[in-house]
Amino acid sequence: MAVYLYRCPAHGTTETRCAMGAAPPAVECPACGSTSARVFTAPRLSLGSPVRRALIERAERTGDRPDVVSAPPPGRRAGRRADVLRNPALSRLPRP
Ligand SMILES: [Zn+2]
Repeated sequence: MAVYLYRCPAHGTTETRCAMGAAPPAVECPACGSTSARVFTAPRLSLGSPVRRALIERAERTGDRPDVVSAPPPGRRAGRRADVLRNPALSRLPRP
């Protein structure tokens, strides 16, 4: 099944589903019954996973204009400090 678009001069566009290649050149408008001519549109091709597409778009956008931050993410500083303190090699260093 494919979606075909038809345009009524008075009521705008309406969509009709029918088998691919079997779309009539015109249909009746569901609102007024007048003849609605077919409108040719670009096919709705799949562009892959929406998550993957959003990630690619974000990477392209931030490549030109990277996000400016004023502070590290919340909790990041505390986690890094704890990792440094847990390193046993650092415990042997002289303390100020
Ligand atoms: Zn109409």
